[in-house]
Amino acid sequence: LVSREFHPSDTVIKIGEREIGGSQIHVMAGPCSVESRTQIMETAHAVKEAGATFLRGGAFKPRTSPYAFQGLEEEGLKLLAEAREETGLPVITEVVDLRDVELVASYADILQIGARNMQNFNLLKEVAKTDRPIMLKRGPSATLEEWMLAAEYILDGGNPNVMFCERGIRTFENYTRNTLDLSMVPALHTLSHLPVIVDPSHGTGRWQLVAPMAQAAIAAGADGLIVEVHPHPEKALSDGKQSLTPPNFQTMMSDLERIAKVF
Ligand code: PEP
Ligand code: MN
Repeated sequence: LVSREFHPSDTVIKIGEREIGGSQIHVMAGPCSVESRTQIMETAHAVKEAGATFLRGGAFKPRTSPYAFQGLEEEGLKLLAEAREETGLPVITEVVDLRDVELVASYADILQIGARNMQNFNLLKEVAKTDRPIMLKRGPSATLEEWMLAAEYILDGGNPNVMFCERGIRTFENYTRNTLDLSMVPALHTLSHLPVIVDPSHGTGRWQLVAPMAQAAIAAGADGLIVEVHPHPEKALSDGKQSLTPPNFQTMMSDLERIAKVF
């Protein structure tokens, strides 16, 4: 179902007036984690001002250490909904547990499946039952075929609105947090009709590399970007090192216009 052979024309995912996978380019931006009302509201207004078209923010966080901040959970979802109300930006947020799918779907406009859950097949089958579009991040060691087959679970389960998200894979290189595999953008566009988003934040782990890789992603044909922005990265509860400040995000957005117009 994910292959272009089966479905020659591009899938276009409609979210209100926004279309992902057609001619529009979308930028999803916001903090790694929702931390407080002040933090999410300040970030939401700043990214909207700079031209972002979706607000991102984690309420349920899959953390490497069990002692790291795990997210505000439902309180975080409520704050995201409030930020959407204030800014008009639709919200994308991660669901990590199949028991929370209904809850997260009741607040979010797009459900994110994180890299660590790409092959959590029960979770994939559960999100397939919702009417929300799904962004499926690439597992840190997943091949293209494994990734496409994971998406196949969601389409086969009844949800046709799936987009891929390249967020880097684990390689021997450790200067960057992951190796952002931009060749997946044209590869996926050849093999599949589904939209492709790129995450240069997790893909590099260093804020200085985010804007150049964002430009490269759009040049490679990505349908959109997902980027971490925090008003005070040095105080962030997660992923501060890869988070852009609002002024840096603003610069990234204006530099992007050299490559393509953001919706
Ligand atoms: C995130 O988007 O904050 C996240 C945890 O991403 P990934 O699943 O790609 O590591
Ligand atoms: Mn993050």
